[in-house]
Amino acid sequence: MIKSFSRTRRALYPWPKPPGGPHYSVCHFCDTLHEATPVPEGTAARCKCCDAVLYQNRHASLVRATAFSLTSLILMVIVHYFPFLIMDADGGFHGNLNLTSASGALIREGSPILGIALAVFTIIAPIGMASGLIYVCGPLMFGRVAPGAVRVAKWLNKTEPWNMVEVFLLGVLVSLLKLAKVAEVHFGMGFWAFAALMFCMAAAIASIDRNELWDRLEVAKA
Ligand SMILES: [Zn+2]
Repeated sequence: MIKSFSRTRRALYPWPKPPGGPHYSVCHFCDTLHEATPVPEGTAARCKCCDAVLYQNRHASLVRATAFSLTSLILMVIVHYFPFLIMDADGGFHGNLNLTSASGALIREGSPILGIALAVFTIIAPIGMASGLIYVCGPLMFGRVAPGAVRVAKWLNKTEPWNMVEVFLLGVLVSLLKLAKVAEVHFGMGFWAFAALMFCMAAAIASIDRNELWDRLEVAKA
């Protein structure tokens, strides 16, 4: 009985709001201004005019954001240590490709901008995003704010659109159609880890509402 009561209480718990108020939220679709009242976990606040979602209180948001980010970092290690694509062509050619070697090859073969862009958007951006989320959300689980966490959270907001893991994966699948004509191509462990990384990164970013993150940072700072 105690266990089920405690679970019910936790499920209805809204995230802490900063002192003072009232706090407001603007609908991104119709610009209607609403008073941002706390909502229970697992529910969302919706616009009175157009029914668009204003903000959501997601289940175990901090734990999920930290756990998915940590998993993304582990998957990133696998992506770099195992082959991404394995190619066998006529004449006994056998080659392994991973993200780092692909980026290096592009730079060496005369496409330095493309090589650097590949490294930035598929290696540095996901690692930075996952590390930043862990740095901000990890201490918040214990009601603490890491030094410079507000600056890191602002940086996460700005760089989120530049995390292009899924775009790269789609590009690889399209290019495989051409590669398959000249060589036999197999997916390596790195490819499957990268596919899992795509879902983990999306889940980590979607785990916590930005309104909740800012409110929690303000409350913990106070
Ligand atoms: Zn609206």
